[in-house]
Amino acid sequence: MINTDVVIIGAGPTGLFCAHQLGIIGLKCEIIDNLDKIGGQCIELYPDKPIYDIPAIPECTGEQLTNNLIDQIKPFNIKFHLSERVEEIKRQNNKWFIKTSKNTEFISPNIVIAGGVGSFEPRKFSAKVSEKLEDKSILYSIKDKSIFKDKSVAIFGGGDSALDWAIELSKNSNVTLIHRRDEFRGAQSSVNKIKELEKNKQLKIFTQYQMASVKGVDKLDSVEIKHEEGEIKSLKVDYVLGFFGLIMQLGPITNWGLNIDKKTIPVNTENFETNQKGIFAIGDICTYPGKLRLILSGFHEGALAARGCFKYAKPDEKLRFEFSTTSKTVKSRLGIKE
Ligand SMILES: Cc1cc2nc3c(=O)[nH]c(=O)nc-3n(C[C@H](O)[C@H](O)[C@H](O)COP(=O)(O)OP(=O)(O)OC[C@H]3O[C@@H](n4cnc5c(N)ncnc54)[C@H](O)[C@@H]3O)c2cc1C
Repeated sequence: MINTDVVIIGAGPTGLFCAHQLGIIGLKCEIIDNLDKIGGQCIELYPDKPIYDIPAIPECTGEQLTNNLIDQIKPFNIKFHLSERVEEIKRQNNKWFIKTSKNTEFISPNIVIAGGVGSFEPRKFSAKVSEKLEDKSILYSIKDKSIFKDKSVAIFGGGDSALDWAIELSKNSNVTLIHRRDEFRGAQSSVNKIKELEKNKQLKIFTQYQMASVKGVDKLDSVEIKHEEGEIKSLKVDYVLGFFGLIMQLGPITNWGLNIDKKTIPVNTENFETNQKGIFAIGDICTYPGKLRLILSGFHEGALAARGCFKYAKPDEKLRFEFSTTSKTVKSRLGIKE
């Protein structure tokens, strides 16, 4: 059981900056995100796009903003729990008990929900297809590409992820790329590359086909794919990879006894606390009169929520207002030697 002052749900820009604000007021936190990387929408949806309205930064990409936020919290050695979705929250002895999809358990007086528009989840095959072999032979992301070496892999999808992985895995695996349309959506350079690989017999491509069924009990044996005009083909494969993009789901957040208004959480703008004592909501997921869904608003909300957490984490101490420029305590927390 991990015991900490604050658990932050969501490693988007808002959660990251809130961790900084907690660090400079002397509170410990751990951050959980369902994605396998840090950065929320900035890294998942627009890593290369320039952002022009971050205060004092005339232009930076989603990835640069994320990297700067990560650098800014380095002094606090914050632990991230990635690829874990927070499933359960319940009150336990005046604190909050938190449990993730990987059964990691936390106990904390505070939770900051910086969950954006919900957790990003891969779009999947139908339950009938996915159910028994998901996470074994049917996968929606790749953590260790060495498992595919010298194996037969069917990759479904027509966007950048499907094409990039088809190109990469074709070096050491027997790859078949299957897409339900004739045209691929990925970058033209990747489309050219897979056509070239097909010509050189380094991978097979079937367009206008979709998954029909999978065969195999504990282990995948083969898949059947169906052409839009009805023809069915059977492919002997060891793994199936589905890359159909991500959907965003508020998911378990709706079950935690919080007031929810049109998929957002109403908060008190004094400290961004929700209707539950010790649970705060910041960033895109919170709502209040005049809310702007911008990164800069999330930063302000995180700063106030961090101060709101203080009274539950250190009930016997008074929080003093200090400037980072002049406070010795803040500078020592940041590891700055004078
Ligand atoms: C294309 C595009 C361009 C944009 N351009 C700008 C811009 O120019 N300027 C600007 O200010 N804003 C811009 N935005 C909006 C900005 O990206 C969002 O306001 C910002 O990302 C919100 O940050 P957040 O930290 O609140 O949430 P997010 O970035 O959405 O991060 C939330 C994180 O919480 C995780 N999460 C949710 N639920 C759970 C759970 N139960 N368990 C574990 N993890 C969970 C999610 O996986 C996600 O990683 C843009 C958005 C898009 C899509």
